[in-house]
Formats: sequence, C-alpha cells, structure tokens
Amino acid sequence: MAEPRHITIVGAGLAGALLATLLAQRGWSVDVYEKRGDPRVQGYAGGRSINLALAERGRHALRMAGGDDEVMAHAVMMRGRMVHFLDGRTDLQRYGKDDSEVIWSVHRGELNLSLLDIAEKAGARLHFHRGLASVDFGHHNAVFRDDRDGSLHDVAFGSLVGADGAGSALRAAMMRERDLGERTEFLGHSYKELEIPPGTDGGFSIEANALHIWPRGRYMCIALPNDEQTFTVTLFLPNEGDPSFATVTNGAQARALFERDFADAVPLIPDLERDFEQNPTGLLATLYLDTWHIDDRAVLLGDAAHAMVPFHGQGMNCAFEDCVALADQLERHADRAAAFAAFQQDRLPNARAIQQMALENYLEMRDRVDDDDYLLQRALERE
Ligand code: FAD
Repeated sequence: MAEPRHITIVGAGLAGALLATLLAQRGWSVDVYEKRGDPRVQGYAGGRSINLALAERGRHALRMAGGDDEVMAHAVMMRGRMVHFLDGRTDLQRYGKDDSEVIWSVHRGELNLSLLDIAEKAGARLHFHRGLASVDFGHHNAVFRDDRDGSLHDVAFGSLVGADGAGSALRAAMMRERDLGERTEFLGHSYKELEIPPGTDGGFSIEANALHIWPRGRYMCIALPNDEQTFTVTLFLPNEGDPSFATVTNGAQARALFERDFADAVPLIPDLERDFEQNPTGLLATLYLDTWHIDDRAVLLGDAAHAMVPFHGQGMNCAFEDCVALADQLERHADRAAAFAAFQQDRLPNARAIQQMALENYLEMRDRVDDDDYLLQRALERE
C-alpha cells in the first residue's frame, strides 16, 4: 500500500522540519502538513522572543541536516549557570572545564524558519494551513482542515509521522485505533515568560554568556540570552500554595513577588506588569506512551511521543535525536513496520531516561544550586 520512499509528516515544527530535511536529502519524497500559516510569510504568533537551550545532541542532528552553521550564526553561548542569590550576590557555575563544554541559546522562531528553509531546499513539500482533523487508518486516508475557511482536504497516505507536538492530533487518532498506553502527569507547577530588554547602551544588561537562575526553594526564575541583546525570563511557580499562580494573579502581585524574592531582576524588567498580564501561563507535564507506532501506518516522535518538563533543556534536543534515529531506521529496513518498531526500541528508553532527568533537574535548579554544601562540592570538582 505504502508508496516506496514517500512519507507524510504531520507538523512542520522543530522535529517535523528537521525530519523532512533528513529524509528528502536521502531521496525520499516528503509531504509535510502544518496547522499554522507559513511563519516565513506571516511572522511568528505573538512576536515574542522565546529561546531554547541547544546542546551537543541537538547540534549533531543539525550538522547531519547541514543546518548547524546557519543556526549557530544566531546562537548565544551559555558557559554555565549564573546563580542569583537572594542577597544580590551572583556566582557563575561553569557547565564544563572550558568553552568546549557549553550550551547555546537559540531563538525558537528563527530556528523554525531556518529548518523550514533547509527542508524546502532539500525538496520536501510544505503545506501550510493544514491541521490534521481525522484519520481513517483502514482506508489510508487523512483529513486536514484549513483554519482560514474551515475547508476539509483528503490526503491518501502510506505512513504518517506525527511531529505535531504535545497535543498531537495524530496521537489522538491513533488512540482511537489502538491503546498506546498514554499517561500524562502534570507537574503542579506552571510558567510565565517575561522580557529583559537591552540595557541603555543597547547591549545585554546582564552577563550575556550564561543561563541565569534565581533559585528560591519551591520556585525559581531563569533567563536565557537572545542574540538581539534581550533575555527571555521564565518564572516557574507552583499552581497552589503561597506564592503560586493562585496567589500571584496580576501584574501588581507579580511586582510584589519580584521585589521580595527577585529584587535584582526588578530594574531589568521594565514591563513586568504588562508581560505578566498579557503572556499566557503555560502548563508543565510529562507524557508517557508504551507504544509509539501502529504497524507501518503511523509513528510518533518528538513531543508527540514524549513531551517532558523543560528543566533539562532537552525536549528539542531529544526530538532532533529522534529525527536522526528514525531516518536511519527507515534507510535500514525496507519494511516500514520493522523500521518504526526498531525506532521505538532504540528511542523510547532514552526518552524515558531524559524525562526522569528533567523532573529531577527542577529540584536541583530551584533548590540546590544556591546551597552552600552544593557550591562547595562544585568548587572542589572544579579544582
Ligand atoms: P513542536 O515544536 O510543538 O511542533 C509541533 C508542530 O506541529 C507545530 O508547528 C504545530 O503548529 C504543528 N501542529 C500541531 N497540531 C497540528 C495538527 N493537528 N496538524 C498539523 N500540524 C500541527 N527543549 C530544549 O531542547 N531546550 C530548551 O531549552 C527547552 N526549553 C523549553 C521551555 C519551555 C517553557 C517549554 C514548554 C519547552 C521547552 N523545550 C526545550 C522543549 C521543546 O520546546 C520541545 O521539546 C520541542 O518544541 C518539540 O518539538 P516538536 O517538533 O516535537 O513539537
């Protein structure tokens, strides 16, 4: 049934665009369907700078697709964590022995634009305003909805790849066909993004080459640099208790929290009230599945298969690794079902391990990086 070397990808986000590139470069015929419009034409929704930490695992995948140089041209090096203590002191805790062991801050929107460009250059066909609405697995037919006029479009497929993120429509359709063993565990903490604009001289207003952390026990703030000299600040708070998103509900309450607990950040965020009130509050959860594929007809990867909390900065990096692994398995096995099974066998245990590390790192970041014993131990390790 499956047309040889043709694949249909749902979602042209980070994983979808990268997988499309890797497969098209290997001579596959690739169609990608994306719910939203082309961000290269209409710009990014909201227009805010949101950044991600790119690590070596992700860079390796970008190199394989020939996209590393373009992405790195806009990346900002982060040498370590800059811990901001309650009394205003700061301490840079390096990630490695020198600048060969660092991570990079990349702009999510720019990264997606670069990946769409390289996917198209590699020969993938990108279809925008096509949100997966339903799948008839028996007849190998998928229906996509155009969000502009509600029109429905039938697409015959051999195999579908779900790169449509944590709320995956393909996963929901697969669940109607087969029990994938889906479980979602909410963290009980959420997040809000705020912005540090450039300083009065137009440059970064705090150390550029660091991931800043304000650890405060049950909660914390972090800030990652953007190449336009700004920082994206993320405030993580519990959903209940005090303080929490239940007690800090408006700009004035957010300012009071910052003045008490993040005092050195207050002068850096001039639009704190506006950002707090206008930007959405994001939920945090871990998604577990026991099965990522239905024979040769559908497979999931990236957040659609294993969304995780962001505290290890590895969700995208892990999604990129998935793309390399799936492209490799598709080359190795003529039988798609065997390729998807081998992909799952390879990647599912890794994804589980990274999900667990991400949960553990929340405790470390918010609770331990300003602990005296911990600092002493890190200092001894560095000697
Ligand atoms: P997505 O990036 O979500 O892409 C999914 C795509 O599918 C989107 O383009 C969407 O429009 C499209 N789509 C959705 N539904 C449909 C549909 N029905 N039909 C067609 N298309 C559809 N990871 C890191 O590695 N480092 C970090 O520092 C980091 N920080 C993070 C901070 C926060 C606050 C959060 C929430 C996440 C963070 N992550 C980080 C995780 C990272 O964002 C994800 O792991 C990554 O975006 C997953 O890529 P994806 O392509 O699987 O999904």
